[in-house]
Amino acid sequence: MQKNLESSVIVAKFGGTSVADYSALQRCADIIQNNPAIRLVVVSAAAGVTNRLVALSKGVENEKERLQLLSEVMDIQHQISQHLSPTPELNSQLRDYLVRMALLSNQLAEQGVEAAKQDELLAFGERCSSMFLAELLRQRGHTARDFNACLAIRTDSHFGAAEARPVRISMLVREHLTPLLENYCVVTQGFIGADAADRVTTLGRGGSDLSAALFAEALRAHTLQIWTDVDGIYTCDPRQVPTARPIPEITFAEAAEMATFGAKILHPATLLPAQRAKVPVFIGCTREPEKAGTWVRNTTQKRPMCRALSVRKGQVLLTARSLNMLHARGFLAELFAILARHRISVDLITTSEVSVALTLDTTGSQSTGKALVSEALLAELAPLCDVKVEDGLALIALIGHQLSETPEVAGRVFQVIAPRNIRMISQGASPNNLCVLVQETDAAEILQALHSNFLD
Ligand code: ASP
Ligand code: MG
Repeated sequence: MQKNLESSVIVAKFGGTSVADYSALQRCADIIQNNPAIRLVVVSAAAGVTNRLVALSKGVENEKERLQLLSEVMDIQHQISQHLSPTPELNSQLRDYLVRMALLSNQLAEQGVEAAKQDELLAFGERCSSMFLAELLRQRGHTARDFNACLAIRTDSHFGAAEARPVRISMLVREHLTPLLENYCVVTQGFIGADAADRVTTLGRGGSDLSAALFAEALRAHTLQIWTDVDGIYTCDPRQVPTARPIPEITFAEAAEMATFGAKILHPATLLPAQRAKVPVFIGCTREPEKAGTWVRNTTQKRPMCRALSVRKGQVLLTARSLNMLHARGFLAELFAILARHRISVDLITTSEVSVALTLDTTGSQSTGKALVSEALLAELAPLCDVKVEDGLALIALIGHQLSETPEVAGRVFQVIAPRNIRMISQGASPNNLCVLVQETDAAEILQALHSNFLD
């Protein structure tokens, strides 16, 4: 019985704008009620809530400012609850959440910042959303219930950017969640989990997608639906390139490159659990659910050489130069060990005989947004090499198939970019991407030129 149920379950995730207010929640409920296979729903905090909780989690000492932020969070939640004509239970649950948010904000301001408390505070945005959506579904006659994601999403104790433990998660899902799915449409929180000591953790900003994928993996779900404010993955960000269009189908490998290289639509780590469990992912627009959206699968029917372009601004290029590198062994190992100790992941890398240039991955940065190139990092690198840090750069990635095996690609890219400078280029590590690092101020023009050459 359970086996059948597991494989037919659809997991649906609704992002912050999809649960932003009461009418947005109604649209989520419509989608859920129109598809009885949706048994698990994963929600983000209402738009704007996590940003404010992040600000509060840094310890706002100025009381006026702190109360202002808290009242903005409360307003968003009250707006929703008023429309819901809440039951006394929901009212007291909401009051409890709001009181705990205020208490934690005060403690963080008065007693200093403590990572575990920060995550406890951040979690309330998602907790409110799942409580509201479960209530709305019940009011519409659905058998729905709220489920505490911390009972299933086990992580390490790296608060703010905790790492999930998929094997443990599968066991916990089977124990606590699967039995509920037989009788209920279950609504749970994205973004949050708990460590082995049952302390609340968060998965990093945008982590709700990852939560949904982890649940989908654990349930061996039929499909993972990601409902958001755009109707799928586009060939490029339409705000930057007006001729960009939605992509009907894309492979996991390509979508992962896109997510990593700046397309904001999916959290880069999301696809791993879905890909591991071979769960196809559908990305659709909550406001226009009938639109085609984008499917992400292991293989697609069409395999165009170039499927999409992505851009990531605000890139930092770190150049490490050391004369000891000449014929030396182990320089890179030392350099990377230091970066790893500072939990920095490297994106692109090019080397010459005495120097190595690399861009730093800013996507997996902490929920609380710590700067990546810290004084401590520079101090540790100083004895090893001279370091130069450049910013104001943008990374543009061409994403597709066999990019490294198609003769004309690099030539065409160079020709298109010719009037501008390429600060760095990376090609060949994967057949799925070709990356160029350019001045941020040139990025829009280069993107449009590449799109019209490769994708229009
Ligand atoms: N609410 C969290 C954030 O804003 C997680 C998410 O929305 O995915 O980052
Ligand atoms: Mg999101």
